[in-house]
Amino acid sequence: MKKHNFYAGPSILPGEVYEKSSEAIRDFAGTGVSILSISHRSTEFGEVMERARSLVKELLSLDDDFEVLFLQGGASMQFLQVPYNLMHHKSAYLETGTWASRAINEARYFGETVVVASSKDKQFRYIPKDYTVPSDADYFHITTNNTIYGTQMHEIPETEVPLVADMSSDIFSRVLDFNRFGLIYAGAQKNMGPAGTVMVAVRKSLLGKTGRRIPTMLDYETHIKKASMYNTPPVFAVYASMLTLEWVKKQGGVEAMEKINKEKSDLLYAELDRNPLFEPFVAKEDRSMMNVTFDLKDERVKPLFDRLWNEAGIVGLKGHRSVGGYRASLYNALPLESVKVLVEVMQETERKA
Ligand SMILES: *Cc1c(COP(=O)(O)O)cnc(C)c1O
Repeated sequence: MKKHNFYAGPSILPGEVYEKSSEAIRDFAGTGVSILSISHRSTEFGEVMERARSLVKELLSLDDDFEVLFLQGGASMQFLQVPYNLMHHKSAYLETGTWASRAINEARYFGETVVVASSKDKQFRYIPKDYTVPSDADYFHITTNNTIYGTQMHEIPETEVPLVADMSSDIFSRVLDFNRFGLIYAGAQKNMGPAGTVMVAVRKSLLGKTGRRIPTMLDYETHIKKASMYNTPPVFAVYASMLTLEWVKKQGGVEAMEKINKEKSDLLYAELDRNPLFEPFVAKEDRSMMNVTFDLKDERVKPLFDRLWNEAGIVGLKGHRSVGGYRASLYNALPLESVKVLVEVMQETERKA
């Protein structure tokens, strides 16, 4: 790949994932058939699914109460599948962005939904810190990284109730005590693989408590019983995700990812703080290591900056349509080199402006 790929999602994957999955399209695991054309019930694919599930458990050091699933419908389906399976009477949510708002809207179909705090009043430029989670809530839902705004939760709240997290855009990017969570979900296309699957890690001990009848496909228990193969899984997306997880493991796991992600984001934020042409979008203490949002102070510099980064082979720097400005997504697979190129472009813009 010749470009410096800063897209927010679908987004950059490790080079070897492109190579190995291309090869698997021609000939999957020496079977003589394409990964696109093999039965999901074949031994070879069965091994892929098992390997992908166990790599998630291993990389996140999840205890044995957790089951890992690869489902469809994206993170957006989890907005409703979570309350369907976990909410008996009441749920609690922290509103830190558009994705959180959407999750809240879905939860309201299932029962009382308390928004404990929201940063909507300030365009989601910070993470609310002072709030109380009702102790009778069935769970508390957070979004650990807000892809659109570029904020990230650096403190995971202590709660009495089970913690549910949308980790779509920072899964496998940093070390957390993942066993503190009751359920974690992440759409693959940000930091784990191509679009088409969502990873769900759920504690078995939380299920079966709502008294609600759940349609088969939306019931986590269905998929747990069938080892995530109740119906045809998104074969290619799971395969490419498995390759990415293998790559993460080879790099030294989540700890190694965190180290390099910190280096990348420190480099870019330092330039944003230094360079008088730019201003970062969010509160300093809540800055995301994954999605760095910023804008030019003077719109007149825009044609110059845009020309220079395009010429440097950078793609995907445009901010989300609801925020504007710029967003550089620094997911695991983005090399430090690409961040250096961006920083150089910012410095060149300063010299030429
Ligand atoms: C992208 C994203 C989503 C939506 O994911 P889909 O797979 O498109 O449904 C939800 N939450 C977060 C944090 C995201 O970044």
